[in-house]
Amino acid sequence: INAFVKPYVIPEASDELNQNLESMARSFAVTDDRIRIIIKEFHKSMKVGLDHDDKDALPMIPTFVNRRPTGKETGSFLALDLGGTNLRVCQVSLNGDTTYQLLQQKFTITPEAKESRLWDFVAECVAVFLEEHDLHPSQGRRAIPCGFTFSFPIFQTGISSGNLSMWNKGFTVPNSVGRDVVNLTQSAFQRHHVPVEIVAVVNDTVGTLMTSAYSFPDTQMGIIFGTGTNAAYWERLEDIGKWAGDRHGEMVVNLEWGAFDNAARVLPYTMHDNKLNRKSSNHGLQVYEKMISGLFLGEVTRNAILALVDQRLIFEGRSSELLNKSYTFDTAYMSAIVFDDSPDLSATKTVLESTLDLPPTTLIDRKAVKNVCNMIGTRSVRLSAAAMCAVLLSRPELLKSSVSVGIDGSMYQFYPDFEKNLYAVSRTFLGDDFVDNRLALRLAKDGSGVGAAIVAMTVDNDRKAAT
Ligand code: BGC
Ligand code: MG
Repeated sequence: INAFVKPYVIPEASDELNQNLESMARSFAVTDDRIRIIIKEFHKSMKVGLDHDDKDALPMIPTFVNRRPTGKETGSFLALDLGGTNLRVCQVSLNGDTTYQLLQQKFTITPEAKESRLWDFVAECVAVFLEEHDLHPSQGRRAIPCGFTFSFPIFQTGISSGNLSMWNKGFTVPNSVGRDVVNLTQSAFQRHHVPVEIVAVVNDTVGTLMTSAYSFPDTQMGIIFGTGTNAAYWERLEDIGKWAGDRHGEMVVNLEWGAFDNAARVLPYTMHDNKLNRKSSNHGLQVYEKMISGLFLGEVTRNAILALVDQRLIFEGRSSELLNKSYTFDTAYMSAIVFDDSPDLSATKTVLESTLDLPPTTLIDRKAVKNVCNMIGTRSVRLSAAAMCAVLLSRPELLKSSVSVGIDGSMYQFYPDFEKNLYAVSRTFLGDDFVDNRLALRLAKDGSGVGAAIVAMTVDNDRKAAT
């Protein structure tokens, strides 16, 4: 454990502050031993979840996606990507040579949409996109076929239907849980006279996996490390006990790994996490996600910093109105602070004094804050890596060949050294040989929308073939 604790000590600071930093570091530490336990628990939970639905196990949702893309797919498709932060409306053109073009418009999801009129908001954005790009149904069709990427857990009942199991990432739209999200969207399209038909609905991790596979056929897994976190992977149908249909071949399974360990038994869960959890709209749920993903890290950090303030160990015991408010410490500030290597930690000073309006800070204050950010950021990336390794290790036969993992999201893209640390942890648990010679983590930027278009295309072709 020492290796995780020592770097957080500040030589010129008081013993009292250092003791607090040390014990904080210990509470956030994710040691190799801890990762070993997490991987074991992950495997148990995956197994239960594949066998039957169990509220204490991983959801392991069969996605009805059972064909790997070849990279030869061609055509132009509409895709809708509803994330935790943005809605993207895209026109995706697959070139048939493993490349694609993307025309997209990004709409920030308004607080009002997150709380109430989401479906109308989606319809309005699609209407704007169609209007601006002058898109219409092609000859002989009533509607433009569209793939829908949906970044919340749905229990899929088909490739183009699924019932919302719960909201997370701060969404609370009423009258939606338990209902078919494609129906809800399609009804809004009708109300707004939007000539679009959703022919496939996929989780964003499934979209990411498919996009990566379009360019890299050895893709086995798609991951989002962003506002939220989750992954999807190829599983053998014979190992999906709860799948009622044909058991030959493979299917993409959406793990919904943010829900791992909701009972908080094996994770380094602290009182700072608990404070966040208690005040969240999905209290007690998505515990793993709340320790990993961008929406929450800043808030955990704010809680931990305030704990030091309240003991008068930093900022002379003073806070600011801003720092006292929930979710004002953006995860992007953590990135800036962790990245700040200037001798006087000037970027940290700017965040604290200009952005967060704190009284003048000392260098020791700033070092303490930087250390807290580091502890919580390191915990996030090590837990992220643990989950990735667990999934890859669950299909050991795949690790004999080359493996690509398609990844997207703000944490992966912007948090300092995130990818480097994913590789580092993978070395310990997947072995040097595999990491050096066969593993490729690949950014699938904005991949979730493209993947939905790929799936929509397959469905559309099947339909054409059937008529
Ligand atoms: C959702 C997942 C989604 C992930 C990444 C989580 O909050 O439950 O469905 O894939 O965020 O966006
Ligand atoms: Mg997204």
